Order: sequence, then C-alpha cells, then structure tokens
Amino acid sequence: VLETMVDGYWLLDGEGYLREVNEAYVRMSGYRREELLNMCIPDLEAKEVTLASVRAHMDAIIARGSERFETIHRRKDGSLFDVEISAHYWQDTGQFFGFIRDISERKAREESLRIAAVAFNTQEAIIVTDKFANIIRVNRAFETITGFSETEVLGKNPRILSSGLHNAEFYRQMWDAINTSGRWSGEVWDRRKDGAIYPKWLTITAVHHLGEVTHYVAVFVDITERKKAEEEIKNLAFFDPLTHMPNRRMLLDRLRLAMGQSARNKNQGALMFLDIDHFKVLNDTKGHEFGDKLLVEVARRLSACLRDIDSVARFGGDEFVVLLEGLSPHSQESAVQAGHIAEKIREVLAQPYYLENMVYQSSSSIGVVLFSGDEVQIDELLKQADLAMYQAKASGRNMVRFFEPTMQAVLESRTIMENALRLALSNGELELHYQLQTNSARDLLGAEVLLRWNSAELGAVSPVLFIPVAEQSRLILPIGHWVLETACKQLKIWEKHPVLGLLHLAVNVSPVQFHQEDFVDQVKAVLAATGANPRRLELELTENLVLEDINEATRRMVELRAIGVRFSMDDFGTGHSSLQYIKRLPINQLKIDRSFVRDILTDPGDAVMVQTISDLARNFGFDVIAEGVETEDQLPSLTHLGCSTFQGYLFSKPVGLADFERLVARWDSV
Ligand code: C2E
Ligand code: MG
Ligand code: MG
Repeated sequence: VLETMVDGYWLLDGEGYLREVNEAYVRMSGYRREELLNMCIPDLEAKEVTLASVRAHMDAIIARGSERFETIHRRKDGSLFDVEISAHYWQDTGQFFGFIRDISERKAREESLRIAAVAFNTQEAIIVTDKFANIIRVNRAFETITGFSETEVLGKNPRILSSGLHNAEFYRQMWDAINTSGRWSGEVWDRRKDGAIYPKWLTITAVHHLGEVTHYVAVFVDITERKKAEEEIKNLAFFDPLTHMPNRRMLLDRLRLAMGQSARNKNQGALMFLDIDHFKVLNDTKGHEFGDKLLVEVARRLSACLRDIDSVARFGGDEFVVLLEGLSPHSQESAVQAGHIAEKIREVLAQPYYLENMVYQSSSSIGVVLFSGDEVQIDELLKQADLAMYQAKASGRNMVRFFEPTMQAVLESRTIMENALRLALSNGELELHYQLQTNSARDLLGAEVLLRWNSAELGAVSPVLFIPVAEQSRLILPIGHWVLETACKQLKIWEKHPVLGLLHLAVNVSPVQFHQEDFVDQVKAVLAATGANPRRLELELTENLVLEDINEATRRMVELRAIGVRFSMDDFGTGHSSLQYIKRLPINQLKIDRSFVRDILTDPGDAVMVQTISDLARNFGFDVIAEGVETEDQLPSLTHLGCSTFQGYLFSKPVGLADFERLVARWDSV
C-alpha cells in the first residue's frame, strides 16, 4: 500500500533520521532511496531548522500524538516544493511516521489568486460578466467611478451604464470586434448613478475556455480629467482663454491656408486689424475686470456679424483680427465687399454696451488690407493692416481705413522722417496754421494753432503722421516749445490790435510735454519772455493725458490757472470720460471730437453724445466747442443740442498767418 500511494511516506527514528521512505517521496525529492535513508529532517527542510528545533517539534508531536502542518522541502537539484505533512508518533517503537503531500500546485494557485485579488482592486474599474453579459463581479474602483455598488449591478447588463450618446451602430461595431478579435478598446461616454455623463477609456476582453467564451472582462478609467487637460492644452495653443476665440497662432495658420487657396481659386481675401479706441484708459479707470467684460462682448458682437467662412481672432490686448475669404477676384469689387463688412463691424461695435449696470460707449478703429494669392509675405500683410488701423486711429478713430501703398512708404520712411524732423526746426520748415473758433452769432473768439511741416525732403507731412514720430523720439519737446513760444509771440504782436488783440490762441500740448517735470515753469517762462497775456492762452489737453496721473495733472493745471491760462479738453468723448474725474478737473472747456460732429445728422448715437457732453459742460460750468463743423446744416442741430461754439472747415480751414489776418480783417466787414 505504502509503495503505491500518491503521497510520500517516511519512517523516522527518535533522532529524526529517515529509516523508511516510499517510492512517491523518492519521485518528489529527486533523491535515490539509498541517499534518503541516510538523511535527517534538516537535510530536506528548506526552512531554517536546527537539530534542536526539530527535537522540540518532535516533542510536541509526542505530546499530542500527531500533527498536521505545512512546510517546504528542497529537492536534490535545489528546487523547492510545498508540502503538507501529517506526522504521527508511534509510542510502541519510539518512531515517527508521516505522510507527505506535494501541495506546490495548490500553493501556486492560491498565490495567483491573492495577486489577482490585489490586482482586481486597482485604480481601474473592472467588470466581469458571464457569457450572457450579466455582471458577476465589479471592483471597488467601479463603485467609486460609477457610483453604483456591487449589489446594485450584480446580474444586470452593463447597458445600465450607458449615456444614450452612442447609437446602436456604435455598440454593434464594438461587439463585432470583441467577437472576431476577442478584444475592443475605445472612448465611451457613460452615465454615472447621479446622472452625470463622463468619458471613459474602455477595454473589453472576451475570456475563452476550451474554445468557448465563458466571460467578458471590461476595464475602464475615467478620462474626464485627461480630456479636460487635453482641451486646455489645445485651448492654450490655439485659443484665447478670455474670449475663447482663436488666437494669433491659429489665425496665422488660417491666413496661410487662405492665401494658398486664393492663389488657386483667384478669389481675393481681406485682413482686418481692429483695435478698441482708448481701451487702455478704460482699463486704468474702471479696472481690468470691466475691460475684460468689454472684450468678451466685443468678441461676441464680432463673431455675430461675420459670415461662416470668415475667421476672427484675438491677437492680444484689445486687438482683434478678422480674416475674410472668398471675396471677388476683382479688386474694386472685393474692396467694396470688405469695406461693407468693416463698416458693419465698426457700427456694431459702436453700439452702447451694457456692462455692470452701466451704459458704456466704445468704438473701434479698423485697418483693412486686401490680398490676392500668396505673393505678399504674411509679415508684410500684417504690417500693412496694422498701418491702416493706425491711420484709422490717427484720422479720428471710430473709422475704417484701407491700406494704401503710400502708407507703406510712410512706414518705411519713419526713420527718414525722424531724421528729417530733427532738422525741421533749424531749417525753418515748421509753420503754424490758425483755425478760427466762433459762436452762433459768428463772433470771433480765437483760433487753434496747428502745426504744419513742409519738409524739404518729404514735402508737406500731416501732423497726424509726424506728431507720433516726434513724440516717440521726444523731438516733440523742442518742437512743442517752439509752437508755444511762436503762439505767445503772436499774442504779444496782436495785443494792441482792436480785433486780433481780443482773440485767444489754443495750443495743443502733447502728453510727452505735459509730463516733463518743469512743464509749468516752462509755460510761465515763455509767457514772461514774450510778454503775452496768459488770459489769451488756452492749452488743449487730451483726456488720456490727464487720466494717467490725475492728481499731478490737476496740480499743474491749478497752478497755471492761477495766472490765467485756460484749459480745453481736446477730442472729448472718445476717451473714457468719467464724471468722477471731470468734475474735479480745473478745465474751462470741453471740445467735442469731430467724429461725433461728422455724423450728427445721420447717427442718433452721435447726437445723444453731443447732447450729453453739452449737458455735462453746462452742469459743471464748462464751455463747450464742437470741432470739425463742415456744413451749414450741422449748425442748427449742434445749437439745438446745446453747443454754441464751433470750429471747422465751414468757417475756415487752418490757414497760414497772413491768410488768417486777412480772414479776420474781412470777417468784421461781412
Ligand atoms: P486736433 O487738435 O484735434 O486738431 C484738429 C484737427 O482737425 C486738425 O487736423 C484740423 O485741421 C482738423 N479739422 C479742423 N476742422 C476740420 C473739419 O471741419 N473737418 C475735418 N475733417 N477736419 C478738421 P490737423 O491739423 O491735421 O492736426 C491733427 C492733430 O495733430 C491735431 O488734432 C493734434 O492732435 C495734432 N497737432 C497739430 N498741431 C499740433 C501741435 O502743435 N502740437 C501737438 N502736440 N499736436 C498737434
Ligand atoms: Mg486740438
Ligand atoms: Mg481734436
């Protein structure tokens, strides 16, 4: 019996030496029978044992008569195997006998089960179903991700998780793949117990046994976070986070494509640069949050007035860029088309904004450049659109300007201009022109002095172009000083004249000049040196200049007002005229910007603006003057809206000194 048993058999003497061993143990251990019969327990035990510890164990078995325990044995070749031993003490002979069962397979199975159990509880959700796709097990991650507990889903079809976002075809293809290749992975949108829909990455594997499917295992991870991050990255790279519009990079990409397409299909395209007028001042006075809100609204309006094929992007700050495609192949037609759209945009952006319970008036300046094919470099095109926009600003804002090649020349000649401007003063190329200011009764009140530059090299250059160059190079300091001095000298010369002696002269002051430390002293010094009457001198400042440091500006103005100098707010209404500061300022006059006067008959918004400014002026005790009055029929409206002083081509263009004096002489006799 012992020789035919599956289990091993040992007979040990009281010292722990093998006296008998069966065939089964010989096979298990790899030793020959003769070898085994000289061995003792510590030779076969793989665990650390000593003769003393074996002895102690034997004593315990003697006391109890028998024992069952598990241990590990070492084969002849050194490998280990798990055994379960049933040991007995044979009192009659003082010997021990034992049956040894090789349990290594069972041990290995237990181990892999333990590993599987640990693996089962990973971060990934796992569903195990039977071959009919009924859930038989889920893990903890499943419960966390889906919100369903195991008991709630046992016996159900995983369909209970579906969001309804995928159609039947989707699932059909999924099952096709599982049935043919045994496996499917992909992104699936499912629903949690609380109803929330979320994306997951799902892998389904069919488990086969003997050629038949016995189970399906589905493993998935919640990829909400990952998708969010991907989205974020895509956004950062191609979208402006504030307005969610494409950003510069994306637009340049599209522009490149559009130019290529235009080269093929011969249709022209247009690039528009758009900048919100006086945005910086808004930001500085009302705060960035307010500015942001305006930008978001501008973005919304912009998107709303474009065609599907057009693109719009935020380039940064208050700059937006619009790309029009598929315009006519003929330049004149495409210009009309682009002009239409640009005008529409300008109008839409000039509508009042309702932000934070306030009505806010804004406008934009738009530069447009047409392109045909991809001959012109992208950089060049951007520069041209930018230049046209700059022109729109310089011509009074709230305007659309097309790029013209002459502008290009100007751009390239900026350095040339700066160098020429350096010599303008000493070469006597600068001259002052005078433009009349009058009231409804056509009484002469004074004149604004406007700088003219007749460059030997460049010809007549508009102040719109050279003043910014002069400001940038700080040449405006000597030039502005010269203007002030020349105007004051003129006041002194006219002093005794019965008509001219009563006129005031308005001098434009650049922010660069005004911000000089000793500006006040300079003005006083010029007045003293020329002997001009300070009461005949008026300084034109812009709102933006004053807003930069309102306290300092006020201090300087108060000091000059003390000696009789008057102040006028130029281009009023285009900046961010907050009542808060206007009432604090020691000014005498508001000068309504000519952009409002221009459209007063056609644009009700402009009429309201003029009315508002006039009311404001009356309430705070300021005078008000309208600039840019060009036609007779603007006068009744302006008067009706409360404005009674005027300046503009209707009365006179800015003219040289001699012409101005002749004009004044004739004026009285008219
Ligand atoms: P501004 O101070 O607003 O001057 C008014 C501008 O409007 C002048 O342009 C004038 O010629 C123009 N204008 C006057 N009446 C009419 C009209 O009825 N219709 C139209 N369409 N325009 C009219 P200008 O002389 O080209 O000067 C442009 C700007 O250059 C001035 O705007 C001012 O900001 C600046 N500027 C001119 N002279 C000086 C100066 O001496 N110093 C400084 N710092 N800036 C100056
Ligand atoms: Mg002015
Ligand atoms: Mg002005």
